[in-house]
Amino acid sequence: MGYFKIRDEKNDRAENYMRYADVFLPVPSEKAFTYEIPDDLSVTSGMRVKVKIYNRTVTGFVIRTHDNKPLTFEAKCISGVIDNDTVFGQKFIDLSIFVSDNYICGPGEFMEMAFPSGTRTGNRYKQPYEKNDYLFNLNPAQKKIYDDIIKHSSEGKNLNLLYGITGSGKTEIYIELAKETLRKNKSVIILVPEIALSSQIYQRLYNSFGDDLVLYHSNLSKNQRFANWVKFFKGDSKIAVGTRSGIFLQCSNLGLIIIDEEHDGSYKENSHPRYNARRIAFYRAKNEGALLLLGSATPSVESYYAADKGVLNLHKLLQRHNNAVLPEIEIIEIQSSKPESSLSPRLIVHTKEIIQKNLQAVYLLNRRGYSPVVMCPVCKEKAVCPNCSINLNMHNSNKLLCHYCGYEELHNSKCKHCGNDEMMLIGAGTQRIEEQIEKTFTGFRVMRLDQDSAGKKNVAEDLILKMNNGDIDLLLGTQMVAKGFDFKRIVLVGIIMADIGLNFPDFRATERVFSLLMQASGRCGRGDYPGKVFIQTLDSGNIIFELLKNHDYETFYKMEIEKRKELFYPPFSRIIRLVFRGLEESVVTKHAEKIAEILRNGISSDNVNNEIQILGPAPCPFSKIANNYRWHIILKSKKINGIKDIIKDFVSKQKNKNVYMEIDIDPVDIL
Ligand SMILES: [Zn+2]
Ligand SMILES: [Zn+2]
Repeated sequence: MGYFKIRDEKNDRAENYMRYADVFLPVPSEKAFTYEIPDDLSVTSGMRVKVKIYNRTVTGFVIRTHDNKPLTFEAKCISGVIDNDTVFGQKFIDLSIFVSDNYICGPGEFMEMAFPSGTRTGNRYKQPYEKNDYLFNLNPAQKKIYDDIIKHSSEGKNLNLLYGITGSGKTEIYIELAKETLRKNKSVIILVPEIALSSQIYQRLYNSFGDDLVLYHSNLSKNQRFANWVKFFKGDSKIAVGTRSGIFLQCSNLGLIIIDEEHDGSYKENSHPRYNARRIAFYRAKNEGALLLLGSATPSVESYYAADKGVLNLHKLLQRHNNAVLPEIEIIEIQSSKPESSLSPRLIVHTKEIIQKNLQAVYLLNRRGYSPVVMCPVCKEKAVCPNCSINLNMHNSNKLLCHYCGYEELHNSKCKHCGNDEMMLIGAGTQRIEEQIEKTFTGFRVMRLDQDSAGKKNVAEDLILKMNNGDIDLLLGTQMVAKGFDFKRIVLVGIIMADIGLNFPDFRATERVFSLLMQASGRCGRGDYPGKVFIQTLDSGNIIFELLKNHDYETFYKMEIEKRKELFYPPFSRIIRLVFRGLEESVVTKHAEKIAEILRNGISSDNVNNEIQILGPAPCPFSKIANNYRWHIILKSKKINGIKDIIKDFVSKQKNKNVYMEIDIDPVDIL
């Protein structure tokens, strides 16, 4: 590279032949890096290239080419190209700058995370389903909402929230809107929380759109993801269904983004950069002039507030589809959380009755494993993860497992502290309830669905087939059973222990439990038979049970929004959470204190009305995970641009190689 190259004009490959490329690299820097384009490579913007930085080879994303020789440094040469054609356009570059700015990361870091890492588009992907033509007509309530959305759109009001109760037929509206968008020759992105468990919605979309539909989620191979990315980018497919990262799919004319179950926590990424697909969808809808539709039976408090304030057009679908009615809900107060008494007599009687009629039941217990606490009855010590500040969970009667770092050991029933050779198992997870079910009911065909059983191949397909064929009587599981299932023969839902999660030290704890129980209840009574829900709780006086009984989301929302206002939580503030973690607690603490001081000094001048609150530093509720001590600082503010600048300009420059700092903008949990 140290010599001047003489160019042979005749060999120039194209008119747009340029000598330099500006490239975003996966490093925490906002700027683009300039590289020289060697004579034998054809490079244009929108391609990925291989380049060297600090002696390592990384993937670079070319954002422009030009002829301006850098004046202050000698540009290195591009080592090779990855793509022979453009695979992204200017909108992806704009998006990377938006994310960089909003989530404090390098645009190249974002691109590397958002772009599928595959390189070949060869093998054709076989759709996992058969296409069955699926014809329907919108009922009058659905049709009215469809018409309203189109009408608002023609007035330039493109952002919509569909609050539609469980079983009201939101999917039919999605499909009609998608068809209308395709008729205008525009592209559609539909996001769902999780593909495996959302197979039913996927099947229905597939029945309507067939091979025009591309799938996009992390269970595909990386080349398949890349192939689908390219197919959508080139417009060979105009409709995509994906999980969170599907929001990054690029196309020339985006017409519609649908986010189904918009309240779901899985739309938030939990590693750097910690984006929220919902927020990205707002940006893209505005930037690309697309229609946005968020849908849920339990909208997030933030989204409902936005609709209440007119930022989103609010549409309500409060009737179940096909004359089905909402289930009757009965609250059962239980006296203890002992596993032996986890199934109340009323629940048992009703379950027996419906299964004799060849109908189906769902039991929800939002806790996996056998038992969450293993305690010595003599010295009262509990089995704790050696790497985390968290109790070990008993699994399958002989394994102790940490749900946070994955640590496991064999359980030999001996207390490590006093040597007593019997340990008590306190509380129940799904495995233990499965055992109780087997003891209580004979001859029931039970299937358990939780993180431990869902890992096996084809679990979702198997489950859907068996539920539809009536080969399962009772489906037991964690929150997974509450998500989107639509089986017509489920007529009973039993919530085994409704209190789990209510006391989490997190301002969204109540909202999460309320929407989980409402969603779970919504799984029954969707067909010709009315449903019945039994909610077992230790504290039937809690107001949320009264609201659940009345299917009263809106009163819940009103109560919740008052609390948020009073405590200055979102949507009245935005939160930035800084988490510091490292192997030595004193080092972590000191660094967190130093950063807190920088922040307090940085904002004191323009914080006259106390509009910015800095909480901490303090140990995180989970103060040690995987041997890392964790401290955090929580910033609450009406507007966060000023704080983000302070973090970018001062905090990010305070490096400590023994302490890693996570920046979480709009965190979904603060544990
Ligand atoms: Zn002991
Ligand atoms: Zn652990």
